[in-house]
Amino acid sequence: MSELLGRHWSWIAWLLIIVAVTWGMVVVRNDIDEAHVALAYLVVILIASSQHGGALGITLSITAFLFFDWFFVAPYGTLAVAKPFDWGVLAAFLLTSVVAARLFERVRLESALASDRARELDHLASVREASSLKDAVLAAVSHDLRTPLTTIKALATEIASEGDDRALTIQEEADRLNSLVTDLLDIARINSGGATLNPEPNEAEDLVGAAMQRVQGTLCGREIKVVLEPGDPLLVGRFDFAQTLRALVNLIENALKYSPPTEPVELRVKREGGWLLFSVLDRGPGIPEGERERIFEPFYRQPGSPPDAGGAGLGLSIAHALAAAQNCKLTYEPRSPGGSIFTFSVPAIDVEELTQA
Ligand code: ADP
Repeated sequence: MSELLGRHWSWIAWLLIIVAVTWGMVVVRNDIDEAHVALAYLVVILIASSQHGGALGITLSITAFLFFDWFFVAPYGTLAVAKPFDWGVLAAFLLTSVVAARLFERVRLESALASDRARELDHLASVREASSLKDAVLAAVSHDLRTPLTTIKALATEIASEGDDRALTIQEEADRLNSLVTDLLDIARINSGGATLNPEPNEAEDLVGAAMQRVQGTLCGREIKVVLEPGDPLLVGRFDFAQTLRALVNLIENALKYSPPTEPVELRVKREGGWLLFSVLDRGPGIPEGERERIFEPFYRQPGSPPDAGGAGLGLSIAHALAAAQNCKLTYEPRSPGGSIFTFSVPAIDVEELTQA
């Protein structure tokens, strides 16, 4: 409301200024010519447009044009024009002032945009700073948690050897905490660029074989169907073997964890354009549409997921960070008619390229 009033007042003030300038020039009309009048009006219009925008500038231009014609172009006191040449002067004046008002409007908008952009950049910089600070704190805290954990574990082992069963629980919990701390440290390290990943040419089959071996112990009779796309004799990609294996194993473990035991989990490998895709498919509940952006964030767990189902919600964010740190991608898509497809894509390598190298 007050802004609207302020705008009204500035318009009224500038119209009054135009009237005052006109009055002043009428008083000395015999001593000045049309060029002086045009210049005086232009100065007022330019200042007004630079401060309050093009709409006021254009309104002032039209007002000044009418005053110009009425008071300073003979015959005075009418809008009629005696000399046809004066029409040219008036038209040139109107054109110049309107164009100038619009130019000033654009300059004003551009400078407003530029300061918006500067503010946005400031904001981004502070977000980045906060996130690297978070990583640093995470790394420090995780490191300090590790030392007492090692002591707890050693003592628990000692007590267990004396025959106290409760020590086993302490050991288990210490192990859980230890793996949580390791995960936290890893996230901090990967995100801060401190983890060294070595993307090298590797065969898809080797990765799949190693992943199957790793999950063997957790299968409990469940089936994993491996589908390697037929046709291509050798599927090769560029990735860090150990870290990609870790991400893939995590995806398979999640698929086993979140889908019914009667449904097999599938691991499909295929080449798609410049990418080699490792997809893990399950028949679990899938991820609801609104949550799909968030599953790769640290500590994300689906609302309502039982507290004992799995870890702290770090696995997917580690896998995602591992992908990003080596030019790979981790994506989610829903599976029809139900379930999830998590795909880890690595840059594909043509076999001819390898033999030439
Ligand atoms: P967690 O240790 O909790 O499994 P993750 O980061 O691996 O952590 O997964 C984060 C959350 O994403 C899980 O808690 C679960 O809610 C959801 N999720 C992950 N994988 C699947 C899947 N295959 N099917 C359904 N939900 C999944």
